[in-house]
Amino acid sequence: MSLTAQWTDTHCHTQEQMVETGSDELLARARLAGVNRFIVIGTDATTSQQAIDIAQQHPDVWATVGLHPHDATKGVNTISPLVTGPRVVGIGECGLDYYYENSPRDIQIPAFAEQIALAKEHNLSLVIHTRDAWQDTYNVLDSEGMPEHTIIHCFSGGTTEARECLDRGAFLSFSGIVTFKNAQELREAAMLCPLDRILVETDSPFLAPVPHRGRPNEPAHVGIVGTAIADLRGINPAEFASITSANALAAFPRIHS
Ligand SMILES: [Zn+2]
Repeated sequence: MSLTAQWTDTHCHTQEQMVETGSDELLARARLAGVNRFIVIGTDATTSQQAIDIAQQHPDVWATVGLHPHDATKGVNTISPLVTGPRVVGIGECGLDYYYENSPRDIQIPAFAEQIALAKEHNLSLVIHTRDAWQDTYNVLDSEGMPEHTIIHCFSGGTTEARECLDRGAFLSFSGIVTFKNAQELREAAMLCPLDRILVETDSPFLAPVPHRGRPNEPAHVGIVGTAIADLRGINPAEFASITSANALAAFPRIHS
């Protein structure tokens, strides 16, 4: 029996703030490429509301509400009224970014902690962005306590960081970086990750996979990410699509409600 791949893009930004074409065209192209579920991610109040609006227009789209570490100075109170909105399945992306450090660290940390608390209070999944900040990410998660469903978005570590996150119960979500030539350590993490904890995403419009590097990414490319990992692991890509799509439902159980 031959399988038709059905992918879930667990992390994309199709808001008009991020892409001129808007969502409808991008989603239509992705459906033709075998993507049948999308999670559109909020990064501040505007993009979170837009994510909800997009999700309300498309039965195969769900939304998250979050404040990105870049925008931490805006205050978590700017997004918290949206968390009870329709089709919201997660809080985030939130976390720590010490690479760009667009908001000071002493503002990023409490904003991250507050969003962990929001996820737990509302029984929502937590979507984490972490860059050059592994130890503080572990520290905040350990002091606040992990939400039941936690996703490390665009996981970019190696096997050591993968184990730290997996030991804490997180799902690891892999992006197009796995296709980059210099990403050998990340590929090792993608091979180590248990098959029931692995997710795929585009993070579009960012991080277009090979051979689309240098152009805006889009959800249609999530199958390229998934196929790269399936090939590494010696799994049929369509089977890997169904495994990662089932994992997406486990990671974001509110998709069912
Ligand atoms: Zn993102």
